[in-house]
Amino acid sequence: MSAPFFTPGPGPVQITREAIAARIRDLGQRISDDYGTEPLHLICVLNGAFPFTADLMRAIQRPLTLDFLSVSSYGSRTETSGEVRLVKDLDQSLKGKHVLLVEDIIDTGLTMQYLLGYLQGRGPLSVRVASLLSKPARRLVEVPIHYLGFEIEDAYVYGYGLDIDHRYRNLPFVTSLRLGEDAS
Ligand code: IMP
Repeated sequence: MSAPFFTPGPGPVQITREAIAARIRDLGQRISDDYGTEPLHLICVLNGAFPFTADLMRAIQRPLTLDFLSVSSYGSRTETSGEVRLVKDLDQSLKGKHVLLVEDIIDTGLTMQYLLGYLQGRGPLSVRVASLLSKPARRLVEVPIHYLGFEIEDAYVYGYGLDIDHRYRNLPFVTSLRLGEDAS
């Protein structure tokens, strides 16, 4: 019989649902304080940032609006192709809005670099970045992260929105494969 679905992986990065919830409460408080009464527009980067965005937006005690976009940046299962493509565009204008871009993980930084360029070109008042995870050891380009959940070492992580081949997004925690290990 196979292992129970909610079994953490064997890798070094393990973040419990309690740790995620506590960190998101802190980030929500900071974001609420930083923006004050300014109107805030959240943009969720689908698909991976969907659970993080859903929890973060409910931790922000301010009125806000929400939109989604989707990019594809992965060529294979666990390695970036370096090529970023817009798959689903925004529905709402960014003119006159303070944008908070919500991402699941910043790895090489290439996706974020592309997204920031794309959003800046659409006339927002400001753009900041919230990311649940960051893997600084893998960075190829420097990108700002204003609100970071957890800095992690170099391992392939999944769960809480992050996938292996479109699976495991519904795990309530973040777990990982060993470095160099592919999904079975
Ligand atoms: P980057 O362009 O290399 O920074 O990669 C950003 C995107 O790659 C993220 O939005 C994720 O979709 C995906 N990604 C990067 N590292 C991981 C990982 O460890 N697990 C799952 N997805 C990842």
